[in-house]
Amino acid sequence: MPDVFADLVGQDEAVAELRRAAAAAAAVLRAGAADRAPALIAVGDGDSALADETGPGGVDPAAGMTHAWIFTGPPGSGRSVAARAFAAALQCVHGTGCGECPGCRTTMGGTHADVRLVVPEGLSIGVNEMRALVLRAATTPSGGRWQVVAIEDADRLTEAAGNALLKAIEEPPPRTVFLLCAPSTHPDDVSVTIRSRCRVVPLRQPPATAVAEVLVRRDGIAPDVAQWAAAAAQGHVGRARRLARDPEARKRREAVLAVPRRLTGVGAAFDAASALIEAAEAEAEASVTEADAAERAALETALGAGGTGRGASGAIRGAAGQLKELEKRQKSRATRAQRDALDRALVDLAGFYRDALTMALRAPVAPVHTDTAALAGAGAQKWDAEGALRRLEAVLACRSAIEANVKPRIAVEAMMLALWKG
Ligand SMILES: [Zn+2]
Repeated sequence: MPDVFADLVGQDEAVAELRRAAAAAAAVLRAGAADRAPALIAVGDGDSALADETGPGGVDPAAGMTHAWIFTGPPGSGRSVAARAFAAALQCVHGTGCGECPGCRTTMGGTHADVRLVVPEGLSIGVNEMRALVLRAATTPSGGRWQVVAIEDADRLTEAAGNALLKAIEEPPPRTVFLLCAPSTHPDDVSVTIRSRCRVVPLRQPPATAVAEVLVRRDGIAPDVAQWAAAAAQGHVGRARRLARDPEARKRREAVLAVPRRLTGVGAAFDAASALIEAAEAEAEASVTEADAAERAALETALGAGGTGRGASGAIRGAAGQLKELEKRQKSRATRAQRDALDRALVDLAGFYRDALTMALRAPVAPVHTDTAALAGAGAQKWDAEGALRRLEAVLACRSAIEANVKPRIAVEAMMLALWKG
């Protein structure tokens, strides 16, 4: 297995910082073993610069490390990849993420006893889940190093869950490290008080060349396909891989990019809206159906549904509450999957209008969608920069509206009308 940071594409500065921190963390453990036990320096009230000052040679071994981190960056930039790699680097027994030792391997494989990765499946992370997590995080690490709790999509914490987390971050157990992932440090994403206790690691949108390189090296994808997919995915590594590998994903993208051509009138605009919504629903359903059925079967087996004895039906009646709870969770996950699918479509569409805009401005940048560049060029001529910008803004406004809980169909219909009228 290569170095644990190998998959963090195009993020050299962040990787350097995380390596320094992992080295400092290892020094803390060594000092602790020698019974000089320095505590981690907490980041206090926005004054994160204080903790960043490591002297040459590491005068204070604790200075490079802190117990709470936030990884920010656009979707696909690798926030959760960074969190997992850093967790591995902290558990690495050879260095700062060698990728070979048991600490690295089990963390990367998701089986390390002292690393918990929270991936919310629904629209938010609830307070009960967070309390349980905080409790476990306070226990002594069984491997003798660190308890690491990584929370993907920390922007989806409920307020109560955020408060439970804040308490743990404010009074951290000595060997616990919290890694949060969020799109940004905007107060909508992460509360100001949590942010003030964390060190922020900003990730950037990786350049298409770096994404293409990793697709070729790691996934064995042909260079020309990798180049095309990396550009079309607009720096989203996972999306680029799917486009390169999955013909269904390519078909869905083509259907989305056919939208601008189809907007010939009001009726067509509403039809296009329906088609987009239904495609997102179908994609989401395909992605969750299998998991739903497997979960239900597992729960029913656990509750005795597989049995034929007289007790079995009684057990099922008593378990109605548990099944209901499962259904609720699955419904929340389905909604989330639909929104994610719709958002991917909107990002593709935004790329098209961005291409039209840059062409109208004669900006010397490569198009996002090489395969619809001619169509975008025609749009640029017809709409001018101003018209292209208005259309781009309509797509972005639709994304924000859906994020602000406007019903997707209503937001998409309004967008399609705006795209048609200009
Ligand atoms: Zn290692």
